[in-house]
Amino acid sequence: MYLISSHEMLKDAQRRGYAVPAFNIHNLETVQVVARTAARMGSPVILAGTPGTCRHAGVEYLVSICQAAAQQYRIPLVLHLDHHEDEQDIRRKVEAGIHSAMIDASHCPFEENIAKVRSVVTFCHRMGASVEAELGQLGGQEDDLVVDAGHAHLTDPLKAAEFVLRTGIDSLAVAIGTAHGLYKEEPHLDFARLAAIRQQVDIPLVLHGASGVPEVDVRRCIGLGICKVNVATELKIAFADAMKAFLGSHPDASDPRQYLVPAMAAMEEVVAAKICMCMSDGKL
Ligand SMILES: [Zn+2]
Repeated sequence: MYLISSHEMLKDAQRRGYAVPAFNIHNLETVQVVARTAARMGSPVILAGTPGTCRHAGVEYLVSICQAAAQQYRIPLVLHLDHHEDEQDIRRKVEAGIHSAMIDASHCPFEENIAKVRSVVTFCHRMGASVEAELGQLGGQEDDLVVDAGHAHLTDPLKAAEFVLRTGIDSLAVAIGTAHGLYKEEPHLDFARLAAIRQQVDIPLVLHGASGVPEVDVRRCIGLGICKVNVATELKIAFADAMKAFLGSHPDASDPRQYLVPAMAAMEEVVAAKICMCMSDGKL
């Protein structure tokens, strides 16, 4: 088995009424946790890397590690470029073996967003890679990407239909009230807007900023057409907190094979819970 595009994975989720969880990974250990949990639970999963993660780990390393994981567990895995903004950067990474990309031009005016996305779609489809794009804009922070609340805006359902038609994208990230990072207060999702988008658009829809959104709300979103749920912040917190606790109680520990174990176990718990939330277990 090997690294595949997310097109068929998301179409299956759409057909069968579940969502594929997309987990942000950063290094060998975080890939191992997601892959082994997916294999154990029989869940399709997407391994997502932001530009910052690609800089940190190196694209060639990421591709090789994810490929090795897919082969070890004999499952198809998607390695996905999360929130990439530069077409040349995406091209280089697709040529390096990645078959799924998000081109995020959501900060651009409508026509400019369409033009940028269309160009990436043309290249990626020729290479057998799938493309996600965003219309509307989430608030909050994801790596270098910071959007203050004043600039965040929700997806317009009619514009979404035009956007999908004119770009040819495989999946659409919607802004319906979630934000990146941690929520200071419980988010209020605009379910009516999501239902209206679903009526206008027939490709898989993507929910960003799902860390901290109550499970009942995510499930409702899945019922309304969300086929991919992104989780980043909650994984980082679980991993870091467990490592801090271990090092706090073992101040002399210096062996990564020891202090990474509780961090991986804590992250695995969150990954398993999100797989259950997305109802993707047993769907592989
Ligand atoms: Zn996002």
